Amino acid sequence: MIYDNVLAAIGHTPMIRLNRMNDPDSAEVLVKFEGLNVGGSIKTRTAYNMLLEAEKQGLIDENSIIAEPTSGNQGIGLALIGAVKGYKTVIIMPDSVSEERRKLVRHYGAEVKLIHDEGNIGDCIDECLRTALEMAEKDPRVFVPQQFENENNPMAHRHHTALEIMEQVEGEIHGFCSGIGTGGTITGIGEVLKAQNPDLEIWAVEPENAAILAGGDIGTHLQMGIGDGVIPKILNKEIYDNIYIVTDDEAIDTAKKLASMEGLMCGISSGTNVAAALKLAKKLGKGKTVVTVLPDTAERYFSTPLFED
Ligand code: PMP
Repeated sequence: MIYDNVLAAIGHTPMIRLNRMNDPDSAEVLVKFEGLNVGGSIKTRTAYNMLLEAEKQGLIDENSIIAEPTSGNQGIGLALIGAVKGYKTVIIMPDSVSEERRKLVRHYGAEVKLIHDEGNIGDCIDECLRTALEMAEKDPRVFVPQQFENENNPMAHRHHTALEIMEQVEGEIHGFCSGIGTGGTITGIGEVLKAQNPDLEIWAVEPENAAILAGGDIGTHLQMGIGDGVIPKILNKEIYDNIYIVTDDEAIDTAKKLASMEGLMCGISSGTNVAAALKLAKKLGKGKTVVTVLPDTAERYFSTPLFED
């Protein structure tokens, strides 16, 4: 089979059972490995859907400039699509995100604007958004997808990721958990899986230093892509049954084990998700099935503690 371009190859990522990391008396844990997605993360799906819908609605054309505030993977996804479709793309990101992310965005031919993170990622993301909106005010060609409030973000997961999961698992899914950046993943996948099985237990997962849904304070943490310090508009706050908090050490330790015990080269938030999934699997017990996602690949974390001994 030949794809017309790389965008046609987005999605259809594998679902993989955890073996050595999981306790045989627990529920089975299945992980959807988005590190193997085009662009190396789950966010290529949402970037693509937001731009496709903007094209359909006539909000963008070949002269448009895409400008988006993002802590990383969404920017990489938009830059990739910009490269294929010929859109000029400007990604506005906190200077605290890994250097690899900036380099990847630039490598796809997009421009990077860095905003200084003074220790509060939420404030910094707000500043990134202000910068993007100012660009749009000054230049009518600028389109800001606004992933934190764009319904076409969770829609990508309702229409694609969730359906792939159901097709891959076939049998009943008893547990699902996910960290929250924009909330697109947990909202889109959670809604579809819960409609299929109302007894499904969903856990929202937060970094210890950014557990704002649980009423905690916002600080710096290492679980990039989640815990951005804002409660996103598109997050369906009715969809989760429980909030589970993961420390940076636990996320990194789990991500390291995913590589060394399961051969899954994934990022820090994958460690977050799996730390929660293993706990949920223990709670639900043998014979049940827990699903989570590994949002991205490890190869954009070389400069972070994930690769320190
Ligand atoms: N992990 C990583 C590495 C991410 O880049 C993102 C996206 N910000 C997420 C998790 C969370 O995904 P979502 O935005 O759908 O909540």
